[in-house]
Amino acid sequence: MAKQEDVFKTIIAHAKEYGFVFQSSEIYDGLSAVYDYGQNGVELKNNIKRYWWEAMTMLHDNIVGIDSAIFMHPTIWKASGHVDAFNDPLIDNKDSKKRYRADVLIEDEIAKFDEKINKEVAKAAKRFGESFDEEMFRQTNPRVLEHAKKREELHTRFSEAMNANDLAELKQIILDYEIVDPISGTRNWTDVRQFNLMFKTEMGSTADGAMEVYLRPETAQGIFVNYLNVQKTGRMRLPFGIAQIGKAFRNEIVARQFIFRMREFEQMEMQFFVRPGEELKWFDFWRQTRLKWHEALGLGNEKYRFHDHEKLAHYANAATDIEFQMPFGFKEVEGIHSRTNFDLSQHEKFCGKKIQYFDPELGESYVPYVIETSIGVDRMFLSIFCSCYEDQDLGNGDHRAVLHFPPALAPVKCAVLPLVKKDGLPEKAREIQHRLRFDFTCQVDEKDSIGKRYRRQDAIGTPYCITIDHQTLEDDTVTLRHRDSMEQERVKVADLEKILSEKVSLNNLLKKLL
Ligand code: ATP
Repeated sequence: MAKQEDVFKTIIAHAKEYGFVFQSSEIYDGLSAVYDYGQNGVELKNNIKRYWWEAMTMLHDNIVGIDSAIFMHPTIWKASGHVDAFNDPLIDNKDSKKRYRADVLIEDEIAKFDEKINKEVAKAAKRFGESFDEEMFRQTNPRVLEHAKKREELHTRFSEAMNANDLAELKQIILDYEIVDPISGTRNWTDVRQFNLMFKTEMGSTADGAMEVYLRPETAQGIFVNYLNVQKTGRMRLPFGIAQIGKAFRNEIVARQFIFRMREFEQMEMQFFVRPGEELKWFDFWRQTRLKWHEALGLGNEKYRFHDHEKLAHYANAATDIEFQMPFGFKEVEGIHSRTNFDLSQHEKFCGKKIQYFDPELGESYVPYVIETSIGVDRMFLSIFCSCYEDQDLGNGDHRAVLHFPPALAPVKCAVLPLVKKDGLPEKAREIQHRLRFDFTCQVDEKDSIGKRYRRQDAIGTPYCITIDHQTLEDDTVTLRHRDSMEQERVKVADLEKILSEKVSLNNLLKKLL
């Protein structure tokens, strides 16, 4: 098994063992691609949401939030195009009986050419050392050019098939490139079929029958249909944005990779309404602004990259993904899309009401254009969790599992640990915790040796441990232990609030964005 797969398995096991993520309905053998967040997971998730929400609504004068219902009028999903076109092409392998997305199988094949090219480049870089000119090598090396040509051929064929919705051609590509089922290793494929990803349910029980409604597959439409309400009641002037955090549901064909692809997940979306013609300027603005938000977390700027879409949805005129380096490769965590005036115009058409903005400077009314930023909370959680996890070798055969969370996002900010469970130390620990808990999530842990307790806090990513010893009773000082460096310093109890708030406050993270 590849090493990265092992690492990922360890991370998933750690998430369960330390109360971050549980399989949904586990005691009934689980529900596929649905997960529950445990006592530490929910804190991390809430902190991620707060970071996003405050960055959007507090740092921008012209962005406000809403919280729209999950159920919406079913015509909304006709207007948005989801009823007719929110499909994925699926294919089954007759031997393994496993189901795959045909487009993903082909994309993985394309990625193999990229890997081959990157391997050639890495080999040459090693051989030529400092004098290596990567760009020149990529442009001239015959083996690289050969792989690039084959990649381009496949990519073009794939794009054309996807654009034309040509399912037979997708299957033919899979056959021609001899793509095998990763489980059975065979090429015994069914035809490719379209599959709508929306969950349906029924509402009410009238004599004429209940109304068929959908669980929303994205939060964005809740924003579009409230555009007029917010614009009028908030007296908003263009450009302005509406932000929302909420659940979304997709009946994903292949649910893999833990919380990366779930059937019930959470999105943080912001629709930014602008004057027609100014959308590409704002698209660039949001591309940079969102990357900065990610980078401020300090997980490593090299772990992010943009992936600009070559194939655009028919209504979009620019789109990019922010991808993050997961243990299973660079994957999308956020999409930034210039959606023109498609959604609002469609709703105008379907509801028969004007959805426009009167621009006092231009003296005319128009349907605003929209830039969307759309990020999955769970994918963000996964990217942070994976990149912060370390099985650290401490020498002498000793090691520790540690989560190096950005302190502002850590589920528990500090743990107060009485060195021994007697002599008034536990009481002193409680006294300190009772003071700190108004500002920080703060635990007292008095069981086991101090070393074991440090390890337990490292494993859930607590940035600071405060150890109470006999000296504390004499001079009101404590030992402050830093999670990442494991260094310890003696500080005054009276200074704890100030020290901690400098290190763990969300405000300091938010200030990096300005
Ligand atoms: P993918 O191509 O991976 O299916 P998408 O392009 O369909 O994703 P969008 O519709 O742009 O995704 O949704 C915006 C964001 O919502 C994504 O960047 C991702 O973070 C999140 N997201 C989408 N689908 C899922 C899912 N099934 N599980 C968890 N998060 C998801």
